[in-house]
Order: sequence, then C-alpha cells, then structure tokens
Amino acid sequence: MSDVNEQTCQRCGEPVELEREDYELFERMHPDCFHYAFEHDLDRPGLGVDEDCGDPACPSGA
Ligand SMILES: [Zn+2]
Ligand SMILES: [Zn+2]
Repeated sequence: MSDVNEQTCQRCGEPVELEREDYELFERMHPDCFHYAFEHDLDRPGLGVDEDCGDPACPSGA
C-alpha cells in the first residue's frame, strides 16, 4: 500500500494539496493542470497555456 498522503500531480509533478476526493476528481492533478490537460485547448487545439481559452475557469484568463 502506497503512502496515501503523497499526492503528486500527474501533469506537473508538484505536490497537490487537496482533499483526496478532489484530487481523484481532477484525475490526480491540480485543478489548473486538469484544465490545461483536458479543457484548455478543446475549442482551439494547440492553444498555449499562457493564452486565455475563453473558459471562465481558465487560469490564464482575468
Ligand atoms: Zn500540476
Ligand atoms: Zn484555459
């Protein structure tokens, strides 16, 4: 059994400080990383992470 306290982002490799439930919900990533991995370039494939994709939840927006 692995260390349940060790939650590492599948995308950026940094520790994820979320409730276990939320961590699983975001496919074991940061919410921002999840957005970039699955949502960010859906409408505009290849969109850079420093560009706003138009999603209100986009970390690159605002
Ligand atoms: Zn991450
Ligand atoms: Zn976005």
